Amino acid sequence: MSNLNAVLGSFFHTPAYGGFELLERALIELDGRGFIERVTLPSDEGYDAHVIAAREAGAREPGTFMELGSDECGLPGFVDLHVHAPQWPQAGVALDEPLDVWLDQRTFPLEARFADPAFAHAVGLDLARTLLSRGTTTCLYFGSAHLEGSFELARACTEAGQRAVVGKVVMDDPEANHDFYRDASPASALADTEEFLGRVEHLDADCRRTVERFPGVFAAVTPRFIPSCTDEALAGLGQIVAAHDAYVQSHCNEGEWEHGVAVARYGKTDAEALADFGLLRPKAVMAHCTFMNESDTALFAQTGTTVAHCPISNAYFADSACPVRRIHEAGVKIGLATDISGGFSPSLYENIRMAVMASRMLESGVDALVPCSSRGAGRLSRISVAEALYLATKGGAEALELPVGSFEVGRAFDVQILDTRHPYADLTGFGIFDAPADRLARILYLATPDSIRKVFVQGRCVIDRDAL
Ligand SMILES: [Zn+2]
Repeated sequence: MSNLNAVLGSFFHTPAYGGFELLERALIELDGRGFIERVTLPSDEGYDAHVIAAREAGAREPGTFMELGSDECGLPGFVDLHVHAPQWPQAGVALDEPLDVWLDQRTFPLEARFADPAFAHAVGLDLARTLLSRGTTTCLYFGSAHLEGSFELARACTEAGQRAVVGKVVMDDPEANHDFYRDASPASALADTEEFLGRVEHLDADCRRTVERFPGVFAAVTPRFIPSCTDEALAGLGQIVAAHDAYVQSHCNEGEWEHGVAVARYGKTDAEALADFGLLRPKAVMAHCTFMNESDTALFAQTGTTVAHCPISNAYFADSACPVRRIHEAGVKIGLATDISGGFSPSLYENIRMAVMASRMLESGVDALVPCSSRGAGRLSRISVAEALYLATKGGAEALELPVGSFEVGRAFDVQILDTRHPYADLTGFGIFDAPADRLARILYLATPDSIRKVFVQGRCVIDRDAL
């Protein structure tokens, strides 16, 4: 099962925003590195001959050919654009506390434990495997403020076989951070960031030599957010990003407080300040972005920066709902994220559902005591479940500029195989709702972790529940 060359089965994906495509009984053939070389449909010339040849090749080399059953189907592996790995043990804990209490009493003491590389590795490995089992094949991670702990997280991703972009968090302002958990100085924060970039690059190179089809682990420059960093660190990180053409991740305009800090400190919005430091650019991913005005949105579009939409987390800490539709229509790239552990769930399925529901509530409004005419956002805000699937797949791929997220030729074969008739999780329409749109909707709304039987990253099996 580790050197897949061809798969025959039915696959849903969203090659373009807004709709979806069902590749029914498609033969997907891979090159030697796990990238899709050819997709052949029953209506294509030569289909039968290709299928016979693939089956024969599979019989000669067991494990290289997989045929899905009629109750099975494939979805692209998800791309999660915002995860705090050190917060994984905290998922679901104390979410009824205000953000400052949640951070000061729970989160920062927990993140400080990443000072122990063994702890960081154990938490990172468990999280990477859990995310893979939920169908997330690519993930953008915040590590901790520690160089070694963050590096152990990157190593854990390679061990789990998950494609990942990992950052060592910078939080250097002694006025804004606890002494027990921060960078020692702006200079050390910048030096550690440079060293982290180099070490992850070599980690990946070492893995490429030893693992034939390794999916890739990359490094990201990661200022926690403006309120926790000095101007010296932010300016230095901007220079590092430009010099290395590196990934960048941070938070932007998450809630009322963060928004207010930037305005008080610089007399401008969070987005404008980040842009001044050179931190808005292609391959930059900013979490939340709920308080974006029209000029912030235009700035994101101009600079090619992506919004990581975290709908479950926003319900707890963002003081508002993210205007996904407005952001997309303004030409800004946007993907989906769990925001572990501001969001409690490791599943992007649950975030797809919440993204759709939050968009409906933004549109209609939520307080019945306010007149209907002024209760909602005053414009069409809803997104469809297929649009949310796009955010979770190709939206994330565009953000990270990685060839993943769909079953188009040239993309890595990252796939989650679902059993739609698994006991206690029947996703079929009982013969009544068999139209492709209905089938996809039932999968996206009702799939459970048990529905996902196998997960492949770049043609390599990394989760096989049936082998457990
Ligand atoms: Zn976050």
